[in-house]
Amino acid sequence: MFQRTLRKLTLLISLVFLLIFVVFTSTIYGYISMRQFDKVDDAMRMQAQSFRVARERTERMMMPVRGRRIFDPRIFLLLRSEDGRIANLAAFRHEDNANLAEIAAQSRIGEIETKEYETHIYRVLCIPYQYEEKLLRSEENFVIKEVIAVSIVDTEVGLLNDLLWIIAGGLFISMVVIVAASYYLAKRAMIPIESAWEKQQRFVADASHELRSPLTGIYSNAELILRHPDNTVEQESRRIHTIMKEASRMTKLITSLLTLARSDANKAELQLAPVDLSELVEVVSEHFRPFEELENIQLEVSVEPGLRLTGDGERLHQLLVILMDNAFKYTAPGGKVSVAARQADKQIALSIQDTGCGIRQENLPHIFDRFFREDKARSRDKGGIGLGLSIAKWIVEIHGGKITADSEPGKGTTFKVFLPGKGS
Ligand code: ADP
Repeated sequence: MFQRTLRKLTLLISLVFLLIFVVFTSTIYGYISMRQFDKVDDAMRMQAQSFRVARERTERMMMPVRGRRIFDPRIFLLLRSEDGRIANLAAFRHEDNANLAEIAAQSRIGEIETKEYETHIYRVLCIPYQYEEKLLRSEENFVIKEVIAVSIVDTEVGLLNDLLWIIAGGLFISMVVIVAASYYLAKRAMIPIESAWEKQQRFVADASHELRSPLTGIYSNAELILRHPDNTVEQESRRIHTIMKEASRMTKLITSLLTLARSDANKAELQLAPVDLSELVEVVSEHFRPFEELENIQLEVSVEPGLRLTGDGERLHQLLVILMDNAFKYTAPGGKVSVAARQADKQIALSIQDTGCGIRQENLPHIFDRFFREDKARSRDKGGIGLGLSIAKWIVEIHGGKITADSEPGKGTTFKVFLPGKGS
């Protein structure tokens, strides 16, 4: 399944890289070609515009009189008469004079064109002649209408062609590198996806398993009750009690699963409001007071007054219940649970400490994982489902806080929660 995604991702990344390469190189190519011809065009325009028949000189001396500064020997000026005749002003003899005349004859006014003709590539510019003058060719009546500048641009075009080949070659070599790099990136991107998928799969398997056991308990006990239809409720009270216990366990499990599913989908909405955490800790601690007597566990509460924060009171209540419930669940009679809350800089520090069985060092990094239980049987006996700490961590984190656990097997465990908030 992941192979197909990997292939698709590789293709997508390759395409993005390719697109970047093509855009980048074509921008460079476009810029260079523009600059190459810009220089030639400017020189041609200047030379054509500055041309004026130098009347006082001889016909052979006719050449740009003002444009000497930009005089380019590769630029040839030609003149076109009203009736389309061409006069070649090339001051030097050139073997392409005939070609130039033909190219000039085809040029259109106001346009700059690149033309390949026989062995050369020519750039041609045709502009109207500004002066009403005749060419001093004694026997001809040649009224100049347009000045045509022609430049041989073999070097420029050759350079651009070379550049194109280099780009094409670069593209070919880059393709190999691009595909290899894309594959590597796609593979790396797949790691968290694969691990999230595996986690999800494990979660679904664990959840189904956890749901199946109370259901089996409910079903088998109900079946046993049905086998003895004459028994009284009193006689069947043990089984009815088991059914109720399992049903309540299922309700707890489903509620926890829903909470986590909503947290995964970022759909669990928080009812944010000012919360007096000092008061909340006192209230929750009071709920656990009966355990002092029932379980013979001492409860010590030490809370600084006026600790306030903005949060979801219900969720924070749930957080305290999970941590205190665990502390009582995993502490043997005769032990002690201490709850403390105080201001620490800009944070509120909460600590729930017990003198219980503790958690083995190697298990500490996993206790916030879903369905992780150090001792499944013990947790189950105590009504645990292995989701409490995952929910606790989520609640702390959506409030912008942090939760840590410290433990020594046989001596006890301390959970510390830091929440952004201040004392009054
Ligand atoms: P459970 O429903 O099993 O208590 P939790 O997610 O609340 O699930 O806790 C996960 C596991 O972490 C527990 O099964 C237990 O092994 C360990 N644990 C949590 N709190 C304590 C504690 N105060 N003392 C010892 N072990 C704890």
